[in-house]
Amino acid sequence: MNLIFLGPPGAGKGTQGHRLSARYNIPEISTGDILRAAVHQATPLGLEAKGYMDRGALVPDEIIIGIVRERLAQDDTNHGFILDGFPRTLAQAEALTQLSKEQNRPIEHVISIEVSAEELLQRLTGRRQLEGRHDDTDEAIRHRLEVYQRETAPLIDYYRQQGLLRCIVGVGTIDDISQCIIAVL
Ligand code: ADP
Repeated sequence: MNLIFLGPPGAGKGTQGHRLSARYNIPEISTGDILRAAVHQATPLGLEAKGYMDRGALVPDEIIIGIVRERLAQDDTNHGFILDGFPRTLAQAEALTQLSKEQNRPIEHVISIEVSAEELLQRLTGRRQLEGRHDDTDEAIRHRLEVYQRETAPLIDYYRQQGLLRCIVGVGTIDDISQCIIAVL
């Protein structure tokens, strides 16, 4: 099962991706987590990515596409994978379409988690206290939401046209939302 989670920052992609990963025993690949690990270890990738991330800007497409390409080459993805936080631009989506063609393992479902802008702002500012992420400042949060609208929201149409889009209302208990997701797979 090859899945993508699509949705704005704070929609719950990570939480739901984690649960599906355990349920179906397939890896959850979060580009945000990969980048944060690289920043933490101060690798060359991390040093380059940090500035973009702290501002709430996107890391350049070539870098992130390379990371995903390498990650999908690992054997644990053979029976499926869940992408969380990728693709985030049309160029990334097109690269992924190309990659999955080459590897002959098409994306089967794109789960779009929908949450209102006000709810997202509340969640993200609340999360700041809990997780202490560098990019959870007011300004970075606002910027991430803008970048989402401009760069990532168009992917909803891209995947709808391919018949892959599954829309989920991202409000309610974590269990309820998981049930809704499982029901559309
Ligand atoms: P959130 O969804 O809450 O914004 P993520 O953990 O998915 O957080 O991403 C954190 C940051 O990592 C992003 O703001 C961006 O700088 C970078 N990033 C993650 N995934 C991508 C991607 N696919 N393309 C470009 N930048 C990315």
